[in-house]
Amino acid sequence: MTVAENLTQIQENIKHACEKAGRDPEDITIIGVTKYVTIERAIEAVHSGVRHLGENRMEGFLEKHENIGEQAIWHFIGTLQSRKVKDIIDKIDYIHSLDRKSLAKEINKRTDKPVDCFVQVNVSGEESKHGLQLEEVESFIDTLQNYPKIRVVGLMTMAPHVDDEQILRNVFQSLHKIKNTIQEKGWDHAPCQYLSMGMSNDYQVAIEEGATHIRIGSSLVGPYEE
Ligand SMILES: *Cc1c(COP(=O)(O)O)cnc(C)c1O
Repeated sequence: MTVAENLTQIQENIKHACEKAGRDPEDITIIGVTKYVTIERAIEAVHSGVRHLGENRMEGFLEKHENIGEQAIWHFIGTLQSRKVKDIIDKIDYIHSLDRKSLAKEINKRTDKPVDCFVQVNVSGEESKHGLQLEEVESFIDTLQNYPKIRVVGLMTMAPHVDDEQILRNVFQSLHKIKNTIQEKGWDHAPCQYLSMGMSNDYQVAIEEGATHIRIGSSLVGPYEE
């Protein structure tokens, strides 16, 4: 399948999920996750109209950025080591994986202009997943006022890889709720208007539960080459 064909299908599904939820498809940003595919396939995605690209590893990000550059809006969606911040900070538009003070401090130190960040939350509490516990989110974001270059534009989570729709819904609803709590604080440094949640297998449910940014890899740019 071409990326364009996959994109058409995904847009159909988004429209359907939005209708169910009484939402506007314009409010959903598709981030094409290119981590498993070649530069050529990532370029194909851009040419097919995917404006936002996401990478979860430093090497993959730098390689794709070098070839695609300003033609895309760049999202870093993976675990970010503090010592690598300086290598990417001027090239990325959004970081989805802010999950600790030491990282905030490093970002703050390495940039001149504000950086749009999503705070990553481990809603399901799985040990294998990164991110803050739900009950830590509010006080963590509060302390980020100490780092004037950090702008918290939203929250991000990865749901567990399950088919049980109710489990997925619970995860997405919990993130939505805490997002609203933060947003209602009216903190200058944390407008927190976005929800980055939903991947290939669960983005329709995520949209029904309020996602504004969905991160789609396999069903958009797949099948992955071995
Ligand atoms: C790989 C990845 C995705 C996309 O996963 P698919 O299931 O291929 O859509 C989304 N978010 C993060 C953080 C990822 O690492």
